[in-house]
Amino acid sequence: MLDFGIIVHGGAGSFTPGPDVPNRRKVLETSADAGYLELKKRGGSSLDAVEEAIKVLEDSKVFNAGSGSSLSIEGKVSTDAAIMNGNNLGCGAIGNVSIHRNPISLARLVMENSDHVFLVGSDELLKFSRAIGVTSTRLVPSEQRLKQYKENLAQMKDGKIKAWPRNYKLLRSYQSSKKFDSPENSDTVGAVAVDSSSNVCAGVSTGGRWLKLPGRVGDSAIVGSGIYADNLSGAASATGAGEEIIRVCLCKTVCDFMRNGADAQSACEAAINILTDRRGVGIAGVIAVDKLGRFGAARNTEMLQRAFRFDSMKKTYVAVLPEEKDPVRPNYELGDLRLRF
Ligand code: ASP
Repeated sequence: MLDFGIIVHGGAGSFTPGPDVPNRRKVLETSADAGYLELKKRGGSSLDAVEEAIKVLEDSKVFNAGSGSSLSIEGKVSTDAAIMNGNNLGCGAIGNVSIHRNPISLARLVMENSDHVFLVGSDELLKFSRAIGVTSTRLVPSEQRLKQYKENLAQMKDGKIKAWPRNYKLLRSYQSSKKFDSPENSDTVGAVAVDSSSNVCAGVSTGGRWLKLPGRVGDSAIVGSGIYADNLSGAASATGAGEEIIRVCLCKTVCDFMRNGADAQSACEAAINILTDRRGVGIAGVIAVDKLGRFGAARNTEMLQRAFRFDSMKKTYVAVLPEEKDPVRPNYELGDLRLRF
């Protein structure tokens, strides 16, 4: 039987040591364990595993998803999420939505209850939820996120932030602030899993980038960019600067490499190298599992927070610090782990 398992991520970016590191570890571990428990069940599916694992991360308030979502330039929550089932290429995605505590579940509902792949807008999703008899509750920013929002705005006013120069020109319409940027770390969450029937699945969920313009939808809602899954290749889930991830269709690129015979680790590295060559460093990270159950993770950022739990492992492995390497699984040689900075 295939060595089924799950990998979850909690975002890529620069590493800021802080008192919350142990909590991050704990939440990542709990998430991977929740997914693994689903896979352990008789007939347990990678689809259920990915959804359950991501729900833990969304509910934690620790990562940039669900209740912990980062805030737009107007200080509002607007989430993106997507899920894809490699068994039949079924997929569902939502963008610019603040009506559900678990955006990943809403994306799955779109996949399973509509003939569409991608729905956007809170009012529209509210209508859809009502139509299928699902109760939704508006997501409100957590205390912590409101505090961060104020700090970020203050930084803008001090002129400390310089990215997104074209958005800056538009800002007067949204805010009276003088400068604008999206801080690097976003802590988006995602997961990929393979079950004992060799079905793969990928999911991702985010509040998007800090101080984004209202209406912005990032890679996490875009199948092929933020996620992709196909039983013929494997599954991938990305995190990082969505505008850049979209440009190289990062997750489909990873899956294309796997489809052409690369193992998950080599495929992640090859796709990240393309991103680095074309758009530079410090942009993104990606996790993947291939159809043979081998896993991979690569990044061109300082860190990619992640946790692995495969059936052959005695316990969940968590990596949060930049120097932490991934476990080597039995019968599986990791590829060249050198990262390009
Ligand atoms: N990719 C997400 C976005 O651009 C952010 C992240 O992964 O941290 O919306």
